[in-house]
Amino acid sequence: MSMFKDIPVDVGVIYEGERIRRNDMQVELGGPTVKEKFELAKVKPMDEIEDGKITIIGPDIKDLKEGGAYALGILVEAAGATLDQGLEGVIERRIHGYLNYIEGFMHLNQRYDIWIRLSKKSFQKGLNSFESIGKVLYRLFKSELPIIEKVQITFITDPAKVAELYPNAMQDYESRDAKARGLKDEDVDKFYGCTLCQSFAPTHVCVITPQRYSNCGAISWFDGKASANVDPKGPVFAIDRGELINAEKGEFSGVNEVVKKRTMGEVTQVWLYTAFDHPHTSCGCFEAVAFYIPEVDGFGVVNRSFKGVSVNGLSFSTLADSTAGGRQIDGFHGMSIEYMRSKKFLSADGGWNRIVWLPKEVKERVKDFIPKDVIDKIATEENATGVDALKSFLKDKNHPVVARWAAEEAPAAEAEALEVKEEAAGTMMPVATAASLPIMAGGFKIILKDAKIYANKVIITTVKSEKSEKR
Ligand code: SF4
Repeated sequence: MSMFKDIPVDVGVIYEGERIRRNDMQVELGGPTVKEKFELAKVKPMDEIEDGKITIIGPDIKDLKEGGAYALGILVEAAGATLDQGLEGVIERRIHGYLNYIEGFMHLNQRYDIWIRLSKKSFQKGLNSFESIGKVLYRLFKSELPIIEKVQITFITDPAKVAELYPNAMQDYESRDAKARGLKDEDVDKFYGCTLCQSFAPTHVCVITPQRYSNCGAISWFDGKASANVDPKGPVFAIDRGELINAEKGEFSGVNEVVKKRTMGEVTQVWLYTAFDHPHTSCGCFEAVAFYIPEVDGFGVVNRSFKGVSVNGLSFSTLADSTAGGRQIDGFHGMSIEYMRSKKFLSADGGWNRIVWLPKEVKERVKDFIPKDVIDKIATEENATGVDALKSFLKDKNHPVVARWAAEEAPAAEAEALEVKEEAAGTMMPVATAASLPIMAGGFKIILKDAKIYANKVIITTVKSEKSEKR
């Protein structure tokens, strides 16, 4: 039975994490094929809000053709005696959580990147109007965040109106982000954690610091602070930073403790400023992925809205699949665009001196934060569409990574000579070294710490999952 009698489908936390495939969807709102879409929360004076008012500008769900993708703007305007603009980011991020409580309604991402699907099944049950969606949002906002005294919600599907409001929304996001710049991690004794994405990635915890924005790009350290204050039992909570264990990598005892607890021991160590060894986990709604390109010993970055394939031949979605799920994957790092504006942006790996490729659109957005001596040495899709071309570009421009190639070549040549010698003597060769190497066997996970593995022969085969074999 539904949590709300007048809503035709069920509403509850059990629907969080529900995925709706293309074949099962009635309509898609926003998403990769729609250029302009947004969700925005605004705090307004009391007399400007009509509590409970739901407005639809443009066609309602029942008027949208089955299987199509449509523009969408969601505007949540709230008022309350103790509400201020500092809480807009917090209110806005709740839209994601609350909409995912609706049976057959999937909400992904945030801000200008929203991607929503309504299932055919829920549509057939009668969920065919934004009026119902608005009622659910209204009731959850009022019951979960009592600090909100009045709230009105507007859904915009008229593409011209969405396009008109889109630049204002982008301006609002930028002003919010700009406010959070300037504070340093060492200036505070509390960080903030968020587990909102655990419904999709159960071992993911975002650690939000002044200099490491949340992966989704929707929650700054200030937003985290505000959220933890107004809703201490909610998904955003304070983390006592604790002792600084490693300043270069960004390891703090308090972060390790909290992450271990919140991931049921699955993740025990987090290095905030690197994509290697113990990187911050990646959920699924990160705005961009930094990916290591071994051929040039540098990182590429690709964002969600980049349509082509990145310089290593892989699209955003393929790279995102290799990164997501709450895992710590060496060399793959889900992150926000705002993190690229931070002095701590992959600082332990060389920061901007290690970035070799990124889409032109992203370069334009963060250009004021890229050091002047490296900006022209970083390729975009206009300079290189493959690794060979990238290598030539970097060499021509004398990108800082080129100096690393020379440094690496010398020991590599020595190692090669040694390998030939040892092979001739019939010695087994090391095939892998790792600080921590997990092996799955007989239902157990065996972790080899600081292992060096030797083998006469290595055979790599694709393992089909039981599920896919049964299909
Ligand atoms: S990406 Fe991080 S901060 Fe954003 S909603 Fe998910 S867990 Fe929270």
